[in-house]
Amino acid sequence: FSLQHVPISNNRLSVIVRKRPLFTKEEEEGELDSISCSNPIIRVHEPKYKVDGITKYIENQDFQFDNAFSEKESTEDVYKYSLQPLIRCIFEHGVVTCFAYGQTGSGKTFTMRGLQQHYINDIFSIIQKNHQYQLIMSYFEIYGGKCFDLLNERNQLNILEDKNNNVQIQNLIEKPVRDQLEMIEIIEQAAIIRTTHATEANEESSRSHAICQIVVKDTNGNNRGKLIMVDLAGSERAQDCQSNSKQRRVEGANINQSLLALKECIRAMDSGAQHVPFRGSKLTLVLRDSFLSKQQNSHIIMFACISPGSSSSDHTVNTLRYADRLK
Ligand code: ADP
Ligand code: MG
Repeated sequence: FSLQHVPISNNRLSVIVRKRPLFTKEEEEGELDSISCSNPIIRVHEPKYKVDGITKYIENQDFQFDNAFSEKESTEDVYKYSLQPLIRCIFEHGVVTCFAYGQTGSGKTFTMRGLQQHYINDIFSIIQKNHQYQLIMSYFEIYGGKCFDLLNERNQLNILEDKNNNVQIQNLIEKPVRDQLEMIEIIEQAAIIRTTHATEANEESSRSHAICQIVVKDTNGNNRGKLIMVDLAGSERAQDCQSNSKQRRVEGANINQSLLALKECIRAMDSGAQHVPFRGSKLTLVLRDSFLSKQQNSHIIMFACISPGSSSSDHTVNTLRYADRLK
């Protein structure tokens, strides 16, 4: 198994695939593992029939990314070869943004939350050596094209653009964070608010994009950089445009639009285009700073999460195609 380091200075964009394990329960239900992974190549097998207990595959499809992590790699491995080399950038005027994309159940939240403990350690080890920094956190959700504060009982927030084209989220709670424990507590609380609300409203958190933002400031209160972790809505929800329920169709259309807008913005940023179409959705609007191509220290990491089960292979291929088109 060989891994490439993410080149820090040249690559503005890394596209990384992570395959989760096939669960025992899925295996018992007759699911087959339809993904093989040989870094940086990922292969989707389309199992069609079994002969003498051996599965014959047809129509293999190969994709290649910056890194392809199999179920054998831990979140620590993933961290080491993706986000860790970029942590210093958020102290050096960079904006580092990580996205988790994929169908519901493919490991987006698992990956985002797993990375948390690692970057929290690294951020605070820098801060403990150098006391001139302070951290400010915010955590919000985009659902149905609207913005909700996860640090303030899901208060609905307005998104405004000022005359200098700066995007602001009005009344968003920005919490100063002193230590690791405090940061973990804030993240836990936001996660509870997110899932509790979804359950009460008979929705699923898979229909919203959750955005965790950590801003580094110097002692004068000037921004030094930021880390943004985005747990995207389930990509299969974009197909709810065909649902019988009108509300579901509207939500699906919103998710579809935001994921397409995200793709366009990342492509524009990566190619150094003058114009980034960040007004294409609320998601890309609030993430405007992530797509500014002038900042040397700014990076985007896209984690494409995939489920290995054969019944998921259509969604898996869709996820890999989406990720492939970002390059
Ligand atoms: P999503 O957020 O994409 O809907 P989750 O992160 O909730 O998916 O993952 C679905 C389930 O799979 C969870 O029970 C999670 O713990 C498990 N899971 C996901 N990725 C992995 C992994 N790499 N190793 C072990 N379990 C995983
Ligand atoms: Mg999730």
